[in-house]
Amino acid sequence: MSDQDRLIIFDTTLRDGEQSPGASMNLAEKLEVAHALKDLGVDVIEAGFPIASPGDFEAVQAIAQQVEGPIICGLARCNPEDIDRAWEALRAASRPRIHVFLATSAIHREFKLRMAKEEIIRRAIEGVERAKSHCEDVEFSPEDASRTELDFLAEVVERAIEAGATTVNIPDTVGYAVPFQYAAVIRHLKQTVRGIDKAVISVHCHNDLGLAVANSLAALKEGARQVECTINGLGERAGNCALEEIVMAVKTRADYFGVQTTISTRRLCPTSRLVSHVTGIQVQRNKAVVGQNAFAHEAGIHQDGMLKERTTYEIMRPEDVGLSKTELVLGKHSGRHALRERIAALGYHLDDVQFQQVFEAFKALADRKKTVYDADIEALAEVQIHEGPALWTLESFHTSAGTATLPMAAVCLAHVDGRKVQDAACGDGPVDAVFTTIERITGIKVELRDYQVRSVTVGEDAQGEARVEIEHNGRVQRGQAVSTDIIEASAQAFLQAINRLAMRRQARLNPQTETVSAV
Ligand SMILES: [Zn+2]
Repeated sequence: MSDQDRLIIFDTTLRDGEQSPGASMNLAEKLEVAHALKDLGVDVIEAGFPIASPGDFEAVQAIAQQVEGPIICGLARCNPEDIDRAWEALRAASRPRIHVFLATSAIHREFKLRMAKEEIIRRAIEGVERAKSHCEDVEFSPEDASRTELDFLAEVVERAIEAGATTVNIPDTVGYAVPFQYAAVIRHLKQTVRGIDKAVISVHCHNDLGLAVANSLAALKEGARQVECTINGLGERAGNCALEEIVMAVKTRADYFGVQTTISTRRLCPTSRLVSHVTGIQVQRNKAVVGQNAFAHEAGIHQDGMLKERTTYEIMRPEDVGLSKTELVLGKHSGRHALRERIAALGYHLDDVQFQQVFEAFKALADRKKTVYDADIEALAEVQIHEGPALWTLESFHTSAGTATLPMAAVCLAHVDGRKVQDAACGDGPVDAVFTTIERITGIKVELRDYQVRSVTVGEDAQGEARVEIEHNGRVQRGQAVSTDIIEASAQAFLQAINRLAMRRQARLNPQTETVSAV
């Protein structure tokens, strides 16, 4: 592969993706995703926005220290405090990158920044130079580039490259671009910016009009060689360019695009599932590449064609994206080795302590349940990575319900400081009664926005997975848990969401940065 046809995959699931409502992850979850991204073969991991909060800083630092291989990138606005803070988080990485951004469009200049063009250029140069004083690898993004006057955009990009930017990213921050126009922007930069060949042109497209992947592909055709994307297209509002879609598009249509990536496409489905489980944001069934129906040929006429010759209707093979045909089944006689291998194949990286806990839970589950499926193992592994610091844990509960009786629950919770608190309440049903009791004990009153229970696998002894989404003072949190008892799963999921809310309230010491937009 020459540099000419090498497409750099820049994953921002942990930064842009994590900014989407309800997708926030704790440290252990971010590390799990970062390890999975490394296994997937991404070139760059944008690990976070270090100045945004102490939690963001800590996560970027941990990923820089522990994830070896990809370039680890941190986001910063064009000011010294942001840039120095980003560097502090990144300095342990063997391949660090600082990503600085500054809005350039007229609407942002006038209403958000209140800065004239000259001021923008000066700030951009200073930002790139400061980042460059820390590390060689510097990316610059003119925020809202797709709505910036072409000549001014070209000028800013040229000056950023002069100042030392090695990657120039052209974000469609608001998802306003359309393919032909966006391609023309890239072409214009290619043709007019002096020194453009010294930097990699990157694209960052949002999906507000459903065009993020199409816009990114159009830009590749004009010479962009880095794509910023996220697993499952996660991201603010309608999300970002979906990594799995762009990767499979350039692979399947290599004849047209003539570029290659280093992605292990067989890791696409496991990574998609992992991110979906970790964030609690489900993938729609008809989602391209990784959706449940992406390879399901139900229509009779298609099935007939498929049986005669699969390429009549299939442009990609399911095994190429890691959709396993045969699901391996484990049981009570399966040993540690078999379980460890299965967990690794599913994309989880557990340390020895975590693995031991999963192994014990697996043995207990295998006693209750004849066959243990992949989904069961995923559920057990997730308990380990979701385990954040919990203020409250469930000690015990009791419910009574039925027809012509008042549904009631009694719950006992243990606080991290050692005290145990019990209470009881009535409700519309046993689950409602449990939730109400937990609210009374923790003193956190929330609005239940979503509540779902589904069976993890098949059979009457299947585990039930409960997912809840709660809102408190405008902040959304999710929780999920599994058990063969759905009321217990519901209680645990609800408590997890409450714990996250309580922890986040403590962790967000820097609230003013929460309103800061980003590329
Ligand atoms: Zn973005």
